[in-house]
Amino acid sequence: MGHLAPLRRPLRSMFETESLISDFPILDQSVNGRRLVYLDNAATTQKPMTVLLTSRHYYESYNANIHRGTHQLARMATGAFEKARQTVARYLNAASADEVVFTAGTTAGINLVSNILALSGRIGSGDEVLVSALEHHSNIVPWQMLCQRTGAALKVIPCHDDGTLDQQAFHEILAGGRVKLLAFTSISNAFGTINPVVEMTRAAKSAGALVLIDAAQSIAHLPTDVRALGADFLVFSGHKIYAPTGIGVLWGRADLLNELPPWQGGGEMIKEVSFEHTTYNDLPFKYEAGTPNIEGAIALAAAIDYVDEIGVEAIHAHEMELIEAAAGALSPIPGIRLYGPAGRSGSLSFNIEGLHHYDLGTLMDQMGVAVRTGHHCCQPLMARFGITGTVRASFALYNTPQDVEALAEVTAKAAAMLR
Ligand code: PLP
Repeated sequence: MGHLAPLRRPLRSMFETESLISDFPILDQSVNGRRLVYLDNAATTQKPMTVLLTSRHYYESYNANIHRGTHQLARMATGAFEKARQTVARYLNAASADEVVFTAGTTAGINLVSNILALSGRIGSGDEVLVSALEHHSNIVPWQMLCQRTGAALKVIPCHDDGTLDQQAFHEILAGGRVKLLAFTSISNAFGTINPVVEMTRAAKSAGALVLIDAAQSIAHLPTDVRALGADFLVFSGHKIYAPTGIGVLWGRADLLNELPPWQGGGEMIKEVSFEHTTYNDLPFKYEAGTPNIEGAIALAAAIDYVDEIGVEAIHAHEMELIEAAAGALSPIPGIRLYGPAGRSGSLSFNIEGLHHYDLGTLMDQMGVAVRTGHHCCQPLMARFGITGTVRASFALYNTPQDVEALAEVTAKAAAMLR
């Protein structure tokens, strides 16, 4: 199978931003006559050449439907797909690759868990599902739907003005003894807050709740060790970690996933079907009905290998330097308010008094700096702060101190033009 993967470069011993940038062909362009500064990485990351080549190589050389195929291409595609599952399992430190279910992304993973929990009857009237004030809509709405179906109540851990979660309120809610599930994000996509995931998971587990971690943001910034975390489910999207869109992962504890019912029915998730009765497949196939995103899974493994070569800890340290520098460089701008605590990861959100975030973002784009504006799919969080949105700059491994300078310069210019 060696020839299936494009050539890998030797292991990198240190963080070399310049050579990393050249791995990302899309970054080599100008926008409105200025070098593109891409700071919308929390929305989606750009893809390195190794990922692009892996996808192309798949379609050029061994595209076929997986499992059950007897021919050469089907065997090659199946081998690469299952190898990708092992790569993900290794990255997450999962006990087994059977615990890795390929999905379309974070949203799909959360909806899967929400549906199987509703079907299982484990959550019912009088129970509580607990989320946090920092959640993305995709970690709120599926739980509201579960509550509507089961009669459970949705509870929310509030946050402080600095964008950290109110741990005392969290413990008080747990002490009520009704929480059956805690679903929360490891890093806030809106404010960059890093939550104390291990401590919160431990507390919820001691209170008898299941725990789902939304790792959409942390997957590319922090090491992920599902065994050390002690949660029951963890979800992420490939496109936030330099892989294509349309692929993601649900990791779940094998004993729990074995016990829970299947959700979507179809090919692949069955052992035997008759018109009278169907028996279901083993993990992970039980939760993978239909033809999956084969190329996406293989490309995700290439992205993970790429991140692993550099080292996620090194990436994190590099990004933390940039984000701290960005916070410092933006602070002197008159009327600016930065959201989130010091020590944020990935995202830096701000507003400038009297100016609309959308107008700021539009002007910044005209000067070559790509940021995101709006509610970041966190409307309840925006409401908590009495705002409709923010400007959000979010960082990845290929960003540089020059990008930070450009961000500060362009933000100040845009603000001055709007005044
Ligand atoms: N959760 C968080 C924290 C996110 O940042 C995102 C995307 O921005 C999602 C969930 C949803 O991810 P996707 O749209 O890839 O399913």
